[in-house]
Amino acid sequence: MKNIPNNLKIELEEKYPIDVAKIVQIEESSDGTKKYLFEFKDGKTAEAVLLLMKDKQKDEDGNITKSEKYTFCISSQVGCKVGCSFCLTARGGFVRDLSAGEIIAQIVYLKKQNNIAQNKAVNIVYMGMGEPLDNFDNLTDAIKIISDLDGLAISTRRQTISTSGISTKIEKLGKMDLGVQLAISLHAVDDELRTELIPMNKAYNINSIIEAVKKFPIDTRKKVMFEYLVIKDKNDDIKSADKLVKLLNGIDAKVNLIFFNPFEGSSYERPSKNAMIKFQEYLLSKGLLCTIRESKGIDISAACGQLKEKVAEEK
Ligand code: SAH
Ligand code: SF4
Repeated sequence: MKNIPNNLKIELEEKYPIDVAKIVQIEESSDGTKKYLFEFKDGKTAEAVLLLMKDKQKDEDGNITKSEKYTFCISSQVGCKVGCSFCLTARGGFVRDLSAGEIIAQIVYLKKQNNIAQNKAVNIVYMGMGEPLDNFDNLTDAIKIISDLDGLAISTRRQTISTSGISTKIEKLGKMDLGVQLAISLHAVDDELRTELIPMNKAYNINSIIEAVKKFPIDTRKKVMFEYLVIKDKNDDIKSADKLVKLLNGIDAKVNLIFFNPFEGSSYERPSKNAMIKFQEYLLSKGLLCTIRESKGIDISAACGQLKEKVAEEK
């Protein structure tokens, strides 16, 4: 716009930035997973991932019979304060919160870059870099805008917040009753191991998380997801599986088992497939819904934090 006074231009630029982010790197996996590195105005970077959950299917005449399904994995912070011992994002420490605009921008750009129609429903998981509930106000502002019909019109039912378990914030979120889905990164069934993995567990222990989840308003058609990162010889035994069943008793829960994804310098190891399946079978035999997370994008920098790390190394 050239027909407005200079000081108004400056004010607009300061208060209403349009290009809050740009894509600086893309990695594409053979399974359709795409990992994006975003750079924000101050040069800080964070990742987002597009997961193709189902491919488009066509009949003999070329008519589309089944539509493709996308899930976007979105970052909420640059770095993270929680400092989990198994997580690469934790390594760089905490840098800053993302603004609501920077959270939304990741979704807008992912849609645009992949020519995904405006009215096409996508699923959003806040499982990228950062602890979403540690950036509570910006995250909930973003969720409201993303779900608003005048915003991106992506229902809150299609948005899942993954948290390492800040119990007080889970309760606060529950009271807002936004309709979002909840995923808890539980990873351990006793406080000693959980504190080793997630130091914050000292302040917000397993029991406090379970209590907060019990109060959380859950869509009756959905369940609370408990993520359980499986690490070889740490938490992959049947005794742990049994404790998990008891712990989740009375909660409408489903468990998602995640293979630990090793990275350089980490002392933990990936569990065997056999141990994963046995763990899953045990939970299923006790009537607890349990899936094993498909490791998508193994051939690119799979776990969050790894693309950012790689770009930094190259530099
Ligand atoms: N801070 C939030 C969301 C971001 S972490 C949380 O912790 O839930 C997103 C997911 O990545 C978490 O479930 C975490 O356990 C998982 N993750 C982190 N490092 C991993 C690794 N090395 N291998 C496999 N999963 C990992
Ligand atoms: Fe932060 Fe989640 Fe990584 Fe823990 S696992 S350091 S909470 S991003």
